[in-house]
Amino acid sequence: MRELDEYEETLCPLCGLPESYCHSDERWQDLTGTVESCRVTKIREQTMKQFADKGRVDYPDAMLVRIQPKKTEEQ
Ligand SMILES: [Zn+2]
Repeated sequence: MRELDEYEETLCPLCGLPESYCHSDERWQDLTGTVESCRVTKIREQTMKQFADKGRVDYPDAMLVRIQPKKTEEQ
């Protein structure tokens, strides 16, 4: 785990890329961005909104949505 900890310490806490890229005045210019959509995050946000719409949520940052396969009649 020490190697993993050492590796993770090289990553930017904001973007998750190596700081040698995103904190460099030159290397970050080699990167570009595209807009994509994470469907799991969409499900997570829809589920949390449906939950919050039913009542008060005191600590929204402490809430989580567990993602799991839908259950079918056969299961
Ligand atoms: Zn960064």
